Amino acid sequence: MSPAPLESFDDDPCVGSTVLTEEQIAERIRELGRELTEDYGDRRPLLVCVLRGAYAFLTDLAREVDLPVEIDFIAVSSYGASTRTSGVVRLVKDLDVDLTGRHVVLVEDIVDTGLTLRYLRRSLEARGPASLEVCTLLARESADLEGLGVRYVGFTIPGEFVIGYGLDVDERYRNMRHIAVYVDPGV
Ligand code: 5GP
Repeated sequence: MSPAPLESFDDDPCVGSTVLTEEQIAERIRELGRELTEDYGDRRPLLVCVLRGAYAFLTDLAREVDLPVEIDFIAVSSYGASTRTSGVVRLVKDLDVDLTGRHVVLVEDIVDTGLTLRYLRRSLEARGPASLEVCTLLARESADLEGLGVRYVGFTIPGEFVIGYGLDVDERYRNMRHIAVYVDPGV
C-alpha cells in the first residue's frame, strides 16, 4: 500500500496570500541566530519556547545559535479556539527548569497586543533570572515593542490574522512551511 500523500495547502481556500516564504523565514532566522551567538558569547542561553505557536521557530532558531543552548517549554492560552483574543492569559504548562541566575531568551511566535508577553515577563522575572530577553518571529506594526522590551524581532507585519510555520487556526496549519493570511470561510 502506498503511503497517504502529504497534506497540501495549495488548494485550501482558507490559505490566503503569502506573507513570508519558507526561504525568507529561513534567511531571517539565520541572521537572528548569528545575532544571538554574538550577543551571548560565553553565556549559555536558556531558550524558553512559548507553546504551541513558537515550536517551529524554536526548532530552527536553536540550530542557528552556535552556542551550547538549553531549551524548555511553557504554554499559555489566550485565544481559545477562535481568532480573537479572550483577553485572559492562562498558564497551561509551566517550565521544568529553575530560572534562578539563568540567561533566558523567551521565544515567541507573534506579539500582537502584548498581553501574553506582559503576563509571561511578569511570571518569569519573578523567578530571578540573570537576564531576560524576548525573541519573536513576528510582531504587529502596532505593537509597542520598546515598551514591551522586545530585543529580537524577525519581521513586523500588518494586522491580518496569519497561519503557518507554527501558527494555527483551531490547531490546523501549524505544519505549513510558509506564513499566509488566513481567509475566514465564515466571512
Ligand atoms: P497577544 O497577547 O500579543 O495579543 O497575542 C499573542 C498570541 O496570540 C500569539 O502568541 C498567538 O498565539 C496569538 N496570535 C496573535 N496574532 C495571531 C495571528 O495572526 N495568527 C495566529 N495563528 N495566532 C495569533
